[in-house]
Amino acid sequence: MAPSRREKLSDIYGTVYAQNGQQIPFAKLYPEIDDLSIEIEEVGGRPLGSGGRVQLSKTTYSIVHDCPNPQCALGGIRIDPLVSQMVHARKTANQLELKCVGYEGSPKGARFYGCCDIRFKVNIAMRYKGEEKSRDRF
Ligand SMILES: [Zn+2]
Repeated sequence: MAPSRREKLSDIYGTVYAQNGQQIPFAKLYPEIDDLSIEIEEVGGRPLGSGGRVQLSKTTYSIVHDCPNPQCALGGIRIDPLVSQMVHARKTANQLELKCVGYEGSPKGARFYGCCDIRFKVNIAMRYKGEEKSRDRF
């Protein structure tokens, strides 16, 4: 029998922003961002599921990244707070390593086996709209 699927972060937050049941497209969420690149590398943990690499852009943007560990419940990291913090600070690059917020447990969450050991190396680069315009003048 296949093990039951554990709920992940995207089951709580979804992968896109929505307000009153309506999706908010990225361009409306962050009108100041001209280009965006997010690289996520899954490291650490037991052999289960780590080692993956994910690349996100403006068109494939997701507000969360789910943990690949099949034993992990409610796991992953939230991407959107990282991006909105950068936009507020007008940062163009950020590199950080985050621990999975989930835990290893039984499929229905009744038993707790321990913290999830997966970590995520996140590399974010973005360009703002005004900056491109000023470059185009040269
Ligand atoms: Zn996890």
